Amino acid sequence: MRGVVMYGPGDVRVEQVAEPTILKPTDAIIRLAATCICGSDLWPYRGADAVTEPLHMGHEYAGIVEEVGAEVTTIKPGQFVVGSFFASDNTCELCRAGYQTSCVHREVLGTGGAAQAERMRVPLADGTLVATPDLPTDDLVPGLLAASDVLGTGWFGAVAAEAGPGKTVAVVGDGAVGLLAVLAARELGAERIIAMSRHASRQALAREFGATDIVTERGDSGAERIRELTGGLGAHSVVEAVGTQESMMQAIRATRPGGHVGFVGVLHDVAIRGEDYFMSHVHLHGGPAPVRRFLPELIELIMARRIDPGRVFDLELDLDQAADGYRAMDERRAIKVLLRP
Ligand SMILES: [Zn+2]
Repeated sequence: MRGVVMYGPGDVRVEQVAEPTILKPTDAIIRLAATCICGSDLWPYRGADAVTEPLHMGHEYAGIVEEVGAEVTTIKPGQFVVGSFFASDNTCELCRAGYQTSCVHREVLGTGGAAQAERMRVPLADGTLVATPDLPTDDLVPGLLAASDVLGTGWFGAVAAEAGPGKTVAVVGDGAVGLLAVLAARELGAERIIAMSRHASRQALAREFGATDIVTERGDSGAERIRELTGGLGAHSVVEAVGTQESMMQAIRATRPGGHVGFVGVLHDVAIRGEDYFMSHVHLHGGPAPVRRFLPELIELIMARRIDPGRVFDLELDLDQAADGYRAMDERRAIKVLLRP
């Protein structure tokens, strides 16, 4: 079968790779209906994460179950399923508390994820995968694929930032996660949602998802602008969806004392001065989003066509054109690239 392999920065190839097989009795094999390129795939692509061995890329997936191991009881061949980037049993104490990405039996997907391929192996299938009630029509597939990571991650960012009725929510980052954090904040009932973006097409999508204000300034001036818009206080809730020093400090400084930052951009070399943080009175919560916590609810909203997170895919390519997709995302010509296996 075909799969996407990254050999080093800027070097992405579609190659013949081995078919996945059941390695443990708790595994499932799924045939991807669609897969996609993540903003976090750009860290190794740009050389910010070392590539020490060929990486079988991709960790966002939705598709049809083809085969299950002997101990899989609830997931069945023929079902359409959505999963997330870490496999979890969904039964341990941390999973039951809603932190499936810290599951005590957590398993990683194949090296690099291996979801940018025709088929993939998913460990801990019963805990990891959520089946749709019926087979989705084709037009729902992009939305369900978005639930696998970017929607679930944006949603966790908004929940961690305590977005809700009466709150002003600011979102730092206009990638797919940031845009979907805007949508999550709206669904959670936020009163005012400020998207921080300087790209016209992303601003338009943020508005469509529920943003009431757009701020184009960045860094300290971005935080200053948020304070101006909130009577000098700062936002109640800020979602950080980038992961750099500048964006993290922008998020903390844009938050009012007593407010909450939900940080879901994968942090790279971020250092927060203890003295500054001590004086901020801001709550910080984030990390690898426990997407599995939200999947049943998100799938329901998508299947009912109440939300359409698939709108973040503004470029659709055949899996064979994956290298073009990486370039488009790297150059920010595309918000998010969907790949058809
Ligand atoms: Zn667990």
